[in-house]
Amino acid sequence: MSKPYEKETICVQSGWKPKNGEPRVLPIYQSTTFKYETSEQMGRLFDLEESGYFYSRLANPTSDCVAQKICELEGGVAAMLTSSGQAANYYAVFNICEAGGHVVLSSTVYGGTFNLLTVTMKKMGIEVTVVDPDAPYEELCKAFQPNTRCVMAESIANPALVVLDFEKFARAAHEHQVPLIVDNTFPTPINCNPFLWGADIVTHSTTKYMDGHAMSLGGAIVDSGNFDWSAYPDKFPGLCTPDESYHGIVYTERFGKAAYITKASAQLMRDLGSAQAPMNAFLLNVGLETLPLRMERHCYNAQRVAEFLEQHEKVAWVNYPGLPGSRYYGLAQKYMPKGTCGVISFGLKGGRRAAEEMMDKLSLAAIVTHVADARTCVLHPASHTHRQMNDEQLKEAGVAPDLIRLSVGIENVADIIADLEQAL
Ligand code: PLP
Repeated sequence: MSKPYEKETICVQSGWKPKNGEPRVLPIYQSTTFKYETSEQMGRLFDLEESGYFYSRLANPTSDCVAQKICELEGGVAAMLTSSGQAANYYAVFNICEAGGHVVLSSTVYGGTFNLLTVTMKKMGIEVTVVDPDAPYEELCKAFQPNTRCVMAESIANPALVVLDFEKFARAAHEHQVPLIVDNTFPTPINCNPFLWGADIVTHSTTKYMDGHAMSLGGAIVDSGNFDWSAYPDKFPGLCTPDESYHGIVYTERFGKAAYITKASAQLMRDLGSAQAPMNAFLLNVGLETLPLRMERHCYNAQRVAEFLEQHEKVAWVNYPGLPGSRYYGLAQKYMPKGTCGVISFGLKGGRRAAEEMMDKLSLAAIVTHVADARTCVLHPASHTHRQMNDEQLKEAGVAPDLIRLSVGIENVADIIADLEQAL
């Protein structure tokens, strides 16, 4: 067997494989629906007896090609796209955890994910126990209950930049017979592959580095195929017992390693409808082609900027996992030796007021509710993305009131540093 392609090659060549005379570039199948010769054929598609496209809420060829590329990059067995990262995280959990279930959640996850689970999914009857990602193993294990269905964490937390101890989390999840779901948005599969360290499901906000140009919202879910759902039918009845809405199909029996993604796309996407538009999938694919080049530059620039900030007299603290003084330097070196991401958090000696004043003086770096794209940008999470949290929740999420989140872009690093210098 020939050697599998490296990630740089996958980014450019995978997904769309044109046949003789077909377009070289992934076409945008801008069609909600697909034509069939016989009604019987269409019926078989509805019963999942045959694979094929019939309605773009369930599947679309453009989106599927891009999902395939992301699947290969993560080293998974099946993947799907969603309309946003929020939808990806929602589906990833809800696919295996229904009313009466319980989730163990890392406290430092993105504010939107925290809210999704602890407020909205709580209303759906799902319980959550929030854990400190740095807690010792024994402490972590205390969070599990008989009705726990999954553990959820981020490989690099937004914005606390906590690097996940993957092996500790995977061991705790598997010891309690549930999968580990990891949101791998910040390092991207270029810098980190959570499946290598025991994660079972990976999610992405493709809106961030993968798209990379702040053009299109999107999400992705990838299954490693490693978690044996059928070993725990009482915990995962949705996968292991008949689905009445598909004439009694049992996903694990019919689809094997693709059971989890098939259920999420055939059932959740059918009923909840957060499909990624073909145009967005096309733009995402363009972004993915240059992802390795951009991640390298993001990491190079962020390292220089973090070093600059660390020695500046007005800066109180800098958090970047690439700095040898960082608490997460060791974990970052182990799990992401090529680099982490372009996001840095820091605080000023003048506190929250000085932070806001400094941000207003920036000219190259823009204040935007976004992170992880080609242009340098800043945000004050306590006033923006995390403003729904109280002081205690902010502390647990690793968000200090003076924390500035700086997303270092791919411009010339000297220009980024000059902008910060004049603003400081
Ligand atoms: N996960 C992480 C780590 C994020 O940073 C975000 C958004 O910032 C999301 C999920 C949500 O993604 P989206 O904005 O695409 O819905």
